[in-house]
Amino acid sequence: MCPLGAQEKPVKATPSSGPVRLLRTFGRALLGVLYPPLCLGCEVRLPDAEASLPLCSACLRRLPRAEPGTLRARLDRLPASAFSHVSALWLFDEGGTLQQIQHALKYGNRPTLGVRLGRLVGEAWREAGYPVPGLVVPVPLHRPRRLERGYNQSERLAAGIAEVLDVPLRTDLLTRTRPTRSQTTLSQSARWQNVDGAFGLQEVEHLSGQRVLLVDDVFTTGATAVAAAAPLRSAGATVDLSVLACTRE
Ligand SMILES: [Zn+2]
Repeated sequence: MCPLGAQEKPVKATPSSGPVRLLRTFGRALLGVLYPPLCLGCEVRLPDAEASLPLCSACLRRLPRAEPGTLRARLDRLPASAFSHVSALWLFDEGGTLQQIQHALKYGNRPTLGVRLGRLVGEAWREAGYPVPGLVVPVPLHRPRRLERGYNQSERLAAGIAEVLDVPLRTDLLTRTRPTRSQTTLSQSARWQNVDGAFGLQEVEHLSGQRVLLVDDVFTTGATAVAAAAPLRSAGATVDLSVLACTRE
């Protein structure tokens, strides 16, 4: 008869309530004591609030920011002008803190780190006054590689960017039509051959008049980004590019 009694029933039935939730909270607290989150740059112990971005505020400020024209200058050296607006947040420092972050993002099973970093990339895009896209599209991984890694790091970055810019994230649009070798082991010219024609649209979709923001983690030769932009451009889209970091050369 009592309405409060009726409300309590489903709460009691929830598996994560009561002792289970208490045990989980205790487990997390214990892990935090045994393995406290440390800054990837200076190994200082991080407060919990910063745990999903594994950097202290001092190391975050020290990361080398890419000048606004850095990525544009790199792209102007390429034969095809595939992108309208382009932006890189940081310069990739071989062996430095940024490489450790990228490694944690790519191989460290840290999908939430990707979203946190993506928000920073999205905020920088907005602060630069670049046009707000209609869609945010990550550079896809080939399906077996995505399954092996558990997630696509560019997709997690794109999720953070889409959230900040308040536009739809489309992970179903672009696909890898064939497997490609890891670009890191290949020479400059082999990188272009490796990814040429490796991307396509999942379904034929007219994108004329649409502004698409393509997202990747690191820009090295530009071969992957240019190849991924090709089917979007063929479908009529204006393609912009946003990356977490670009190499100096
Ligand atoms: Zn630090």
